[in-house]
Amino acid sequence: MKPEMIVFMGGQGSGKGTFANLLLQKHDFNYVEAGAILRAMPSDSEIKQKISRGELVGDNDLFPIIAPHITSDHNIIMDGFPRTIGQAKWLIENYADKFNIHVVFLNISEATMLAHIQNRIKEGGNRADDTDENAVRKRIESFKTTTMPAIEWLSKNKDIEFLDIKLPGDDIDINFALIYNKLYK
Ligand code: AMP
Repeated sequence: MKPEMIVFMGGQGSGKGTFANLLLQKHDFNYVEAGAILRAMPSDSEIKQKISRGELVGDNDLFPIIAPHITSDHNIIMDGFPRTIGQAKWLIENYADKFNIHVVFLNISEATMLAHIQNRIKEGGNRADDTDENAVRKRIESFKTTTMPAIEWLSKNKDIEFLDIKLPGDDIDINFALIYNKLYK
């Protein structure tokens, strides 16, 4: 039997990491958090500079960094990857035969994204790319222009399960229950 791959997708502040961690508390998964893997790169690297500017790291730089983390002997949660059509195609081409893939699209408005990032700053989050207003704006822009087309492409793919989950409000428990019930129906 193939292992399961749960792919959390959504804009900034949509709760990918929050819901991934809640799911990890209930079930045993490997956890691949693209942003954390990239933030751990050397601080003088080109990749770190892109992150601090709020720009996406190029697909060809990213694939060799991400691939070793995707081991097909265990269920896995993907958080923050894919984010481009190229990454989505790469994921399906290389892994749809090895995993049952479920994409969870955390569908929230742009206003909610901004409000959530502002909360993250107020609560003392220490992400430098959150406090730079330009970087935040760029990340939301790149979600709309680059990641939304990848989400739309995946929504039409017949080899995977695609769940479009419109989060009704800000209650994390209610939102997580909704996600969980759709995944484990
Ligand atoms: P995150 O923690 O998911 O918000 O990611 C932080 C930053 O890492 C992003 O703003 C990008 O600069 C970079 N990054 C994370 N995931 C990806 C990805 N899948 N493709 C390209 N860049 C990424």
